[in-house]
Amino acid sequence: APFSALNLNASLLRSIETEGFESPTEVQAQTIPALMDGKDLMGVAQTGGGKTAAFTLPLLHRLAEDRQRPNRNAPRAVILAPTRELAIQIGECIRTFSKGLRIYHTVVYGGAPFRPQFNALNRGVDILVATPGRLLDHVRRNSVRFDETTTFILDEADRMLDMGFVDDVMEVAKALPEDHQTVLFSATMGKNVRKLADKLLNDPVHVEV
Ligand code: AMP
Repeated sequence: APFSALNLNASLLRSIETEGFESPTEVQAQTIPALMDGKDLMGVAQTGGGKTAAFTLPLLHRLAEDRQRPNRNAPRAVILAPTRELAIQIGECIRTFSKGLRIYHTVVYGGAPFRPQFNALNRGVDILVATPGRLLDHVRRNSVRFDETTTFILDEADRMLDMGFVDDVMEVAKALPEDHQTVLFSATMGKNVRKLADKLLNDPVHVEV
């Protein structure tokens, strides 16, 4: 089926066409409808299969439907990535598909100065993409709060755990409002990812490609 069968926002469909995407990849076909419905999801997928757009497109669709202005220091969605490189890549995907939507995002990671990150958060973003350690640094400096956060996405969860970020991830998760959507992607499904999924996900849809 083509992308147009997915009932995505018209602006998103235009950006998808501009990108030259003809039809959803397998992970996208299995993931996008459930995420548009607001369900929690556990996705086991390798990089290269289009998993970034699989969580980015339904996120943008839902945020665009809400038509809220971004709040200062209070992102509506938080995406965690284990590395700066992956965080930047997710930011690029958001940039590509948010054209024309007035949805704002920023990417924060360690090893970069705080001030520009602080300023971006303070101007207000809908989506914050972050590495876990730097995100908690911002929480401690009061440059971000989670009371407007309705979507929490963890990409490459297995790598995040391998890198020792489990306590950081849990600290963020505990600071989120009760009612939110959680999406977990991992390349592998070992015991530790399963444990994390049990803690974070509520009646999740399972996708494995
Ligand atoms: P990812 O697995 O998210 O790292 O994506 C791998 C690559 O596939 C990226 O360069 C995307 O731009 C591309 N891609 C994602 N979805 C599609 C699609 N439906 N059709 C064509 N290319 C895609």
